[in-house]
Amino acid sequence: MISKDFLEILACPLCKSDLRIDGEVLVCTHAPCGCRYAVQDDIPNMLVEDAARPCPKCGENRKWEPDADSLTCPKCGEKFVWQRAGTRAR
Ligand SMILES: [Zn+2]
Ligand SMILES: [Zn+2]
Repeated sequence: MISKDFLEILACPLCKSDLRIDGEVLVCTHAPCGCRYAVQDDIPNMLVEDAARPCPKCGENRKWEPDADSLTCPKCGEKFVWQRAGTRAR
């Protein structure tokens, strides 16, 4: 079980948003991102490449492009781009 204190220091590695626990999975609270990180033996796997990246529109797993910090849906074309500069994305 992941403790609340531990959860508080964790953030989505892609968009830096807070995470919430959903069963055995940590879910990014930033809806357009929504990456899901698996927890194994109480250790979350915080790698975007290993995360489930369901499209918020159609549920298809989106393609992650590390260089662009973007997620692109191969099915409906929905694209999420994390802006590194400036404040948090809306
Ligand atoms: Zn995120
Ligand atoms: Zn989609």
